Amino acid sequence: MARHDLDTAYITRPVSIAYLTGVHADPIERLMALVLRPDGATLVVPAIERENAERAGVEADLVAWRDGEDPYAEVARVMSGAHKVAVEKAHLTLAAAEALGEKADHVPAFDIGPQILAMRRLKSAAEVGALAEAGRITDAVTEVVLTRLRAGQSELEVGLALGAAIGAAGASLAFPSLVQSGPNSALPHALPSGRRLARGDLVLLDFGAASGGYLADTTRMAVVGEPDPRQVEIHALVLAAHDAAIAAVRPGVTTGAVDAAAREVITRGGHGADFFHRTGHGLGLEAHEAPSLDPGSTTVLEEGMVFTIEPGVYLPGWGGVRIEDDVVVEAGGARLLTAAARSLFVVDR
Ligand code: ZN
Ligand code: ZN
Repeated sequence: MARHDLDTAYITRPVSIAYLTGVHADPIERLMALVLRPDGATLVVPAIERENAERAGVEADLVAWRDGEDPYAEVARVMSGAHKVAVEKAHLTLAAAEALGEKADHVPAFDIGPQILAMRRLKSAAEVGALAEAGRITDAVTEVVLTRLRAGQSELEVGLALGAAIGAAGASLAFPSLVQSGPNSALPHALPSGRRLARGDLVLLDFGAASGGYLADTTRMAVVGEPDPRQVEIHALVLAAHDAAIAAVRPGVTTGAVDAAAREVITRGGHGADFFHRTGHGLGLEAHEAPSLDPGSTTVLEEGMVFTIEPGVYLPGWGGVRIEDDVVVEAGGARLLTAAARSLFVVDR
């Protein structure tokens, strides 16, 4: 703010507010805003979030507004005297910007969203600790759930079992779990269906636990009954690509180089065209954040970045294989935050 001569930041993205204050809240359509001024911070929340904010021990003045009141009256009061106001332009709606102008007499002048995202890209030791804890819980659940897979279970049932196991471990789900069996595993992102697991199916599980607001994101593969040679071969190819990408991670290399390390292995194996997504994505308070490991991307890795490595091969009508782990960049290279066995689980043989 000082660098850009800003006297006020009006921050509204819930994940930004969580990052800056420790208050995790989803106000849905109600107004929630963190107002930063040189002399302090004020968090404006709907009354239903007041106790949540107090419990989080927020180090800001707390203003709660009730349904029926005009929250912009509070905003106007908190922002009185502001001259140059920064907002998150990717989040503030046009309607909210107009209300800010009309009701609080402040026209957003500057986009502070990219600065907040840049801050979030490098994780502190405490953040890495929370991510490692989410990974540890996820690892514990992985083996339990994978070894309990049986022919006849539906993808939806397996998804519920995953959620139950994570709940029993004292955590919540990081995002809606993906459970994809047989030909459904060829779709990189499909929600669980009523399809029942059958002998010979590949089963893809993509899920994670959340700890202190920080998320894990992992993908493991199983086969119901004896795997056939092609399943073993494709799994081995994806695992080799996964290992190559992890080995390529160190400070100073680009995200594109890490992607290329995985892509080269899969292309050499004859499946370059069947790996049609990026190698990974940043991970933290959100399941997808910076950096993004796209082909040709040029972000230079730094210590403290956390992201997934998740190459995959997808063959329509046959199925798909993806293996996903979370890593933190350290001086010596990648440290794994998820580390359950990466082998092809054979269940119900
Ligand atoms: Zn995932
Ligand atoms: Zn992922």
